[in-house]
Amino acid sequence: MTTTRTVQVPDIGDFRDVDVVEVLVSVGEHVEADQSLIVLESDKASMEVPAPAAGVVRELHVAVDAKVSEGDPICTLESGDDAAPEPTAPPDAAPAAPPAEAAAPAAIGAGAGPADASDAVDVVVLGGGPGGYTAAFRAADLGKQVVLIERDATLGGVCLNVGCIPSKALLHVAAVLDDARDAEEAGIRFGPAEIDLDQLRAYKNGVVGRLTGGLAKLAEQRGVEVVRGSGSFTAAHEIEVTGEEDTRRIAFRDAIVAVGSEATTLPNLPQDARIMDSTRALEVEGPPGHLLVVGGGIIGLEMATVYLALGWQVSIVEMLDRIMVEADRDLVRPLEKRLRPRLAALYTKTSVVDVDARQDGVWVRFEGSDAPESACFDRVLVAVGRRPNGRVIGAERAGVHVDERGFVPADASQRTNVAHIYAIGDVTGPPLLAHRATHQGKVAAEVIAGLPSRFDPTAIPAVAYTDPEVAWTGLTEALAKERGVAVRKAVFPWAASGRALGSGRAEGTTKLLFSEEDGRLVGAGITGRHADDLISEAQLAIEMGADAEDLALTVHPHPTLSETIAFAAEIAHGSITDLMPPRRR
Ligand SMILES: Cc1cc2nc3c(=O)[nH]c(=O)nc-3n(C[C@H](O)[C@H](O)[C@H](O)COP(=O)(O)OP(=O)(O)OC[C@H]3O[C@@H](n4cnc5c(N)ncnc54)[C@H](O)[C@@H]3O)c2cc1C
Repeated sequence: MTTTRTVQVPDIGDFRDVDVVEVLVSVGEHVEADQSLIVLESDKASMEVPAPAAGVVRELHVAVDAKVSEGDPICTLESGDDAAPEPTAPPDAAPAAPPAEAAAPAAIGAGAGPADASDAVDVVVLGGGPGGYTAAFRAADLGKQVVLIERDATLGGVCLNVGCIPSKALLHVAAVLDDARDAEEAGIRFGPAEIDLDQLRAYKNGVVGRLTGGLAKLAEQRGVEVVRGSGSFTAAHEIEVTGEEDTRRIAFRDAIVAVGSEATTLPNLPQDARIMDSTRALEVEGPPGHLLVVGGGIIGLEMATVYLALGWQVSIVEMLDRIMVEADRDLVRPLEKRLRPRLAALYTKTSVVDVDARQDGVWVRFEGSDAPESACFDRVLVAVGRRPNGRVIGAERAGVHVDERGFVPADASQRTNVAHIYAIGDVTGPPLLAHRATHQGKVAAEVIAGLPSRFDPTAIPAVAYTDPEVAWTGLTEALAKERGVAVRKAVFPWAASGRALGSGRAEGTTKLLFSEEDGRLVGAGITGRHADDLISEAQLAIEMGADAEDLALTVHPHPTLSETIAFAAEIAHGSITDLMPPRRR
């Protein structure tokens, strides 16, 4: 069968009318899948557009110096059995295109019978979240034949579909609403906000769709085969994938487990649409009412920030004695100070002991000294943590160890106890963060490709995108104490930062912890607007072994929030002039 298609300029970001600087193929030429057809150049970058499949170029629709945008035709490509190169092609030209159908790896057996081990694919990646797709793409770029198995309709996992990205899209809107309210202090008054929830959801879903759609294209361009279905090991070198229509077995040489985690819940919760996990809460449904957030961790606090901005009354209940216990208390204090007066209630050292969904609302019984015995809410968000998906992948049939909590332990090469099976991301243990998963994904792919790669970061940053944001990396004060590491602390209050004051948000703080032993930066914490971006400088400084002098002598632009890092370093260095220097000890 022959297929004729028009190859178009793919999504090239926000660029239009980009120059064609090179045409790499000619009419009648046979091209392989992924072979570059043309080179485009914008003022920012140059990029090659690959052939989506093998075939023969029948017509060229572009020439050098033409200007093209997304969707413009590049060439007509004929693929399939009958697509032979023009006789004018030189005898040593590339061999005839294989049939398009042959692109599927032979190791994928139809039906549920065992796959043929002699045809094993190089790498199977189980789970298409940030860890899994990164691993798959890197392995393909390193020349491996890769199959990526994902049970959901789109790639991207929790992070892109129902985690980092949609929550940050909503938090962006929350920040806009809060900024508009805060502008009153500077004499700028807007009317009450009109919120169109359908449009808000469409905006959030549009952001998600753009990213997940981009991943599908990137997989295709790299020749990574995405298999839809739920995967489970049947043996040390075989996975069975149960899709909507069929069950297939895939033999592999190496596998990467990247199945992530899912939300945990409270025992005996009634099934009721008003009781939500974070995925449901991202749908921001219904008119504002009273929301109870169960769990004062990062996810609960981020969602509380969104609902508050959208006009909901929000109460938070936390079992421990304060919110966001992972971060040092002094970093959380400015957040708590801003949050408390906006909340209907914040119950700490309090447990939820019963939830009853009645017609008039969701009744919650509490156990804790400050909380009422029970109260009624319009909605309840349960954000009490996440559990790994390690137990539901037939790991035992491949001999892979899964611990009692469901995590799949992996070493610095991301190898599990079975040498050819690797594990990455949330399923390998805390911290459950997307950037940890992606870095581990690269390591696993590189180790499989024979590169001397290891996952041994000095620090992994964590960020709560609350208002204000709280970010930290390396040692916290609490951890330093627990581990007996002597540190020297330097804190720069944002009330002395011209930029923070000018932005009307001077409640922040920048704290640096330097090792007493060798003077190097070993930990940092930042609270305040844009702490998410600011923490990366400290992260780099920790990785590079920088000390206070390195940071203090680095010229920072003025006036910026990044200066607060330099100022904190100057405090430790003894050269601060924007504040009184600390007394010498
Ligand atoms: C509301 C929310 C906000 C968050 N915000 C942030 C943030 O701002 N920054 C941050 O770093 N992290 C954030 N996280 C955490 C982040 O989403 C995770 O750390 C990250 O997604 C983990 O990536 P992963 O690849 O390990 O797993 P996942 O993203 O969980 O992906 C695993 C994939 O495997 C698939 N899968 C599972 N089992 C199977 C199977 N048997 N067969 C086939 N497919 C399977 C799943 O469908 C999923 O697509 C947030 C999480 C939530 C819930």
